[in-house]
Amino acid sequence: MPISLPSDIQFQATKKLNELFKLAISSPLIKRKWKKLVLPVLLFNQRGKIAGSARLRDNVIKLNATLYLHNQTYFLNQVIAHELAHILVYQLYGTRVKPHGIEWQQIMLNVFSLQPDVTHQLDTSVLGYKTYPYSCNCQVVELSQTRHNKVQRQTQQYKCRKCGVMLKLV
Ligand SMILES: [Zn+2]
Ligand SMILES: [Zn+2]
Repeated sequence: MPISLPSDIQFQATKKLNELFKLAISSPLIKRKWKKLVLPVLLFNQRGKIAGSARLRDNVIKLNATLYLHNQTYFLNQVIAHELAHILVYQLYGTRVKPHGIEWQQIMLNVFSLQPDVTHQLDTSVLGYKTYPYSCNCQVVELSQTRHNKVQRQTQQYKCRKCGVMLKLV
């Protein structure tokens, strides 16, 4: 369920995107292979557990509104640059380069002065996905709602990867 994001918080993201885009088009690294770069559209309708995504052909960056609301600094410092770098790589090189390849890493490092980290450090608990504790002989693991439903309907069972014992609801 998409939440409505306060307009000042939306504005912060748009402002950041504009700043980074300006940085990119004035960067010597990109100027050398100048092509007309087009500022992507920013939307706040990313679903699921991921922070954001870049729709290259549509020139759209999607951000997860709930995660952004609860991780604003991280989004402004990392996620927007990460996704914009994907857009820039696509506009400069097309699709024949790897998503997090050297071209993407160079933009992160040399244009945005950021570490090209691929994994997000985010608090996803704010999304409110319910989990259920299951145990075996050695540990307690959290199963997702979907997996829990399958166990309850007896359509699926899950074994502990460490001890091999069937997981049971605690
Ligand atoms: Zn990425
Ligand atoms: Zn176990």
